[in-house]
Amino acid sequence: MKTNNLTVLADLYGCPNRCKHCWLGHMPNREMPNNSDKQIVEYFKSYFRSVTFYSWVREPDYCENYVERWQRDIQISVNAKPQRFELASFWRLVRDKNYVRFLKSVDVNTVQLTFFGTEKMTDCYVGRKGAYQELLQATEILIEHQIAPRWQVFINAENTPNIMDLLAYSKELKLSERCKAFGRDFSFFVHSGSCDGENRKLYPLRINKEDIPVELIPYYINFSEAKTEADLCRALANDGSCFTYHNESEITLNIANSFDVYFNFTHMRPEWKIGNILNDDSGELVSKIINADIPALKIARNTPVSALVKRFGNPLSHKIFDCVDDYKAYLLNEMITYSLSCHRTHGKP
Ligand code: SF4
Repeated sequence: MKTNNLTVLADLYGCPNRCKHCWLGHMPNREMPNNSDKQIVEYFKSYFRSVTFYSWVREPDYCENYVERWQRDIQISVNAKPQRFELASFWRLVRDKNYVRFLKSVDVNTVQLTFFGTEKMTDCYVGRKGAYQELLQATEILIEHQIAPRWQVFINAENTPNIMDLLAYSKELKLSERCKAFGRDFSFFVHSGSCDGENRKLYPLRINKEDIPVELIPYYINFSEAKTEADLCRALANDGSCFTYHNESEITLNIANSFDVYFNFTHMRPEWKIGNILNDDSGELVSKIINADIPALKIARNTPVSALVKRFGNPLSHKIFDCVDDYKAYLLNEMITYSLSCHRTHGKP
């Protein structure tokens, strides 16, 4: 009996940005062959009660024919309908005047836009010149069409003063008042993000908790819950449980443009690969999904958190982690990278 529902997000078109915090990890843009969408759904559909198909895992609506694309995502999904989220392509918003109308037509009322400070810092962290100006332009386009922008800001040790400037600028633009005028809220929030994917490379720049300026604390998500690495090392030093990811009855998979299949637990790196749609038998691959049978998860199930802390934690570090699971995931990925590299070098972990 089919008991699980599946959601697949396929990287059919890629992404115009190369954000330094991208938790998925950077991958080349390569348009997947025509009919890949159908091929992916056909591969999985006999094993699941429903299959919800999304043609993007990175940038939504990045293809030229995004209206037909959205219809097709709906049409090829099985016993399910894809949803719109508070996500959109700011790249497309500033290049295609019809796009914002499309967003309205599918009931998008808020769109999240990501900053890293003001112009220089945001362009650098988004990975292309002009990104900051596009984000400002996108903000204006959204407000003009009564869609509220939500500014998400990633903070680290090098962009803090810049974020203060950005906050001041958002006030100068009167974004809150302008959104209120059409009955929506503008929000500005700050956080450090998880520590996987590209953001893992920014570990050395992760900000110390005590260095978050008091003026930004009201905007920092759950600041009172955030911990320093030292606090976490102390709290987890004797934790004998294992930190692992579980599939419940709702399973979500990310499909790379090479047809490699990943869970959406953490970054799309080789150690987390489940298999490949072109090369692997569907029954065997689905069995690995249901049984969480991949090397990274085996390591996770067999390594107590206390051992992760002992091997990879830094009890002297004041770097901030927004939640305990982000820190456990960071330690686990350190362990997995280490174990699998030992396995490749010596033949055993
Ligand atoms: S964070 Fe989003 S927009 Fe940035 S590179 Fe990753 S997928 Fe693209």
